[in-house]
Amino acid sequence: MHARTLTEAGTMGGAMPDVDARAPGTPSVPLTFRDALLAAGLLIETGVRGLYGRSATFESIADGVNAIMTRLGRDHDAEVLRFPPAMGQADFETSEYLKSFPQLAGIIHSFCGDDKGHRRLLARLEDKEDWSDMQRPAGVVFTPAACYPVYPVIARRGPLPEGGKVVDAMSYCYRHEPSLEPTRMQLFRQREYVCLGTPERILAFRQLWIERARQLGEALQLPVKIDVANDPFFGRGGKIVAECQREAKLKFELLIPVNDGAPPTACMSFNYHMDHFGVLWNLRTADGNTAHTGCAGVGIERLVLALLRHHGLDPARWPQAVRDTLWGG
Ligand code: AMP
Ligand code: ZN
Repeated sequence: MHARTLTEAGTMGGAMPDVDARAPGTPSVPLTFRDALLAAGLLIETGVRGLYGRSATFESIADGVNAIMTRLGRDHDAEVLRFPPAMGQADFETSEYLKSFPQLAGIIHSFCGDDKGHRRLLARLEDKEDWSDMQRPAGVVFTPAACYPVYPVIARRGPLPEGGKVVDAMSYCYRHEPSLEPTRMQLFRQREYVCLGTPERILAFRQLWIERARQLGEALQLPVKIDVANDPFFGRGGKIVAECQREAKLKFELLIPVNDGAPPTACMSFNYHMDHFGVLWNLRTADGNTAHTGCAGVGIERLVLALLRHHGLDPARWPQAVRDTLWGG
């Protein structure tokens, strides 16, 4: 059972319509938020959980979210760095992602055989047999978070400038978490500001972004909450790491109710990595100490979905102040 119903405009609360209007005469079927997004053509089904196409309307909201992030971060004078949504395997290994989140990683594989191998591959396909063992790791791994490709590049340049620096990063990210919750995708975009420098600088940066996120929630008229959080570290050992992360208040999230009857969804996160990446990448401050790092980022699709959930599926009918915040320049 889902606790909230969708109104005609698709917003939370209200009375209408809790049934799928596309199936008149059939028994009442609850219209989930996902159903409503697909029916409105905002998300486009691909047959794979968590992998969606997006309509022009969805993308225009995503553009608005990106523009807000650019505006909010302007005072950082950040270096803009954009990468394709993949990293080299060596950098990925150095990041130790597989130590913490092996369950989420996506490793790209390709066919590397000869003509004979190709014929075998085609025969397997013809016989509807498994062919995946004929693929070999391509040396390329999906980017797991927008900040991951940034650290090796900055580290290779040598010590940070005096006072540290901020990078503006954005990437499609992959996480293997197939789900029917529309907010939990396998490929989604993160726009992040990454701060590298002294612990004091990172903590001040993170506090600034927590306050900015609160103001953003107000400007977008969304019911936001900020709370301490943890990453989904793998396995039994991971539970302890996650507890330590919470206890040390290393991660905060901006939470907004989006999914039917589910706890609120993390739409932004504010992370202090301490010297974790500094040690892995030998990142140094100008005076030779190990650099600390942190990042503040938004999940673009999640914030778009939160807006659609709370203001309805037709942005033309959203409050003018929200429209101005997104598209007013
Ligand atoms: P994280 O690196 O886990 O703190 O994620 C940063 C942001 O990315 C989160 O606050 C979400 O907004 C977004 N995000 C994380 N995982 C997903 C996912 N599976 N689907 C869509 N957005 C996600
Ligand atoms: Zn990050």
